[in-house]
Amino acid sequence: MINIVLFGKPGAGKGTQAEFLKEKYNLTHLSTGDIFRFNIKNETELGKLAKTFIDKGDLVPDEVTIKMLESEVDKNQHSKGFLFDGFPRTLAQANALDEFLLSKKQSITATVALEANDEILVQRLLERGKTSGRIDDQDEEKIRNRYQEYNEKTAPLMNYYKNQDKFHAVNGIGTIQEITERLSKVIDNL
Ligand code: AMP
Repeated sequence: MINIVLFGKPGAGKGTQAEFLKEKYNLTHLSTGDIFRFNIKNETELGKLAKTFIDKGDLVPDEVTIKMLESEVDKNQHSKGFLFDGFPRTLAQANALDEFLLSKKQSITATVALEANDEILVQRLLERGKTSGRIDDQDEEKIRNRYQEYNEKTAPLMNYYKNQDKFHAVNGIGTIQEITERLSKVIDNL
């Protein structure tokens, strides 16, 4: 069983790459952003709560996010492994994930970051916002807030995983296929 964390700033291509990697390695893809958006669309209580944070470009509180993620893992008990996309995003989430997996005699195999320059990513997100319908993709101020959240709360996770010898990074600029190949090379060598 392999459990991979896909890292990267908003717009780095995590979701796009996850679509390919989940097929290639037979993994269950869990995107916390997608799960939140599904709940928002269906107007669940979780969705209503999450929307107040997401629309501003803020992170949803840890307690809510961790509980949701754990319940999604539990729904996929026969999975051959997970591809975590957009989770963990804080140290508290990373600790909770390690403990949760340990309770199932599992662990994170590796984390792979898709690296790209902020200015390229901001332009990509504004472009995506024209068609995605996502409020958080349409306003440069909200986008910049998402990067600030990333730099303050998510970037420290790189050291967390480096200290566990589980951190890898690939260049996130290139064609979709080129980037899938770079990611596959890392995963094949685990
Ligand atoms: P994403 O689709 O991964 O860009 O996530 C969209 C938004 O959902 C983020 O800007 C956060 O508001 C929220 N979100 C997604 N994953 C998390 C997480 N692990 N922790 C807190 N908030 C999250």
